[in-house]
Amino acid sequence: MVMHQMSVFNIEDEILKLKQKKNAIILAHYYQDSEIQDIADFIGDSLELSKKAKASNAKIIIFAGVRFMAEVAKILNPEARVFIPDRNAGCSLEDSCQAEDLAKFKQKHPNHVVVSYINCSTHVKALSDIICTSSNAEKVINSIPKDRPILFAPDRHLGNYLSKTIGRKMTLWNGSCIVHERFSEKNLVKLKTANPDAKIIAHPECPEVLLKYAHFIGSTSKLLKYTEGNGGKFIVLTEHGIIHQMKKANPSAEFITVPYLERDGVTCINCNSCEFMKMNTMEKIYDVLKNEKNEIIIPEKLRIQAKKSLDAMLAIS
Ligand code: SF4
Repeated sequence: MVMHQMSVFNIEDEILKLKQKKNAIILAHYYQDSEIQDIADFIGDSLELSKKAKASNAKIIIFAGVRFMAEVAKILNPEARVFIPDRNAGCSLEDSCQAEDLAKFKQKHPNHVVVSYINCSTHVKALSDIICTSSNAEKVINSIPKDRPILFAPDRHLGNYLSKTIGRKMTLWNGSCIVHERFSEKNLVKLKTANPDAKIIAHPECPEVLLKYAHFIGSTSKLLKYTEGNGGKFIVLTEHGIIHQMKKANPSAEFITVPYLERDGVTCINCNSCEFMKMNTMEKIYDVLKNEKNEIIIPEKLRIQAKKSLDAMLAIS
């Protein structure tokens, strides 16, 4: 009798084999599921990932993040073929600033310098003078001559935080991140009272009403750096995906997530995650790598125009 051995399909192994065969890399944002972070070649925030994408010699970049991030990779590295696991992985901040509306603002205010947070569409980047991330925003704003008025788009909370920290008045676009805006102040206060020894750390995309409780405010990578060390207790006001790396860097620390607002009397304790980021899955990564679908294509004229504002940021970052 001939015995047939069953081969077991292991998705991690298959992704790694395909990556090697196709000279591909996987770049993953900190807000991805932990299993995606664990197979990535590099994990980072928007600034770190855009620099990695630019410097990469890989033929294929699988971008495990949201669409505007994959587009930044393509803008900065047009030689690479860039793919996104789920085409619908958008961003509420991107949606809140439409290029037609920004173009109208610019027509009415031709003297304003347009500083756009990297969480915006390629068309908005093409209309912007300079891009910033939450890691380099202060540096970017301080590089603009004092006598020039600034429009900061699209995140009004980050803009408000920067305006107060730097002491510079800016016109703010009325956009926001649904993830950072939904944390509940009431629940944060409850957690703070129950854990008086915990440090509250927050991303500046959070509204001011929450930021006022924070011991430390910073970009995703700065929050990660802040929690490194030995032990401690942290109440984390940002997307919970980052906690995977925080736990790796400081295994004996305790990380507490903040529940969202109550809706219809029910408090959601597990929904402080970005629904767009979480559209990516291991299965979709395997699928796009194998079948080379969901490629990011940007018309060359638009890419070159958008690249100018990104280059202006990278020159001072
Ligand atoms: S966390 Fe907020 S800013 Fe980041 S991708 Fe999701 S919706 Fe956009």
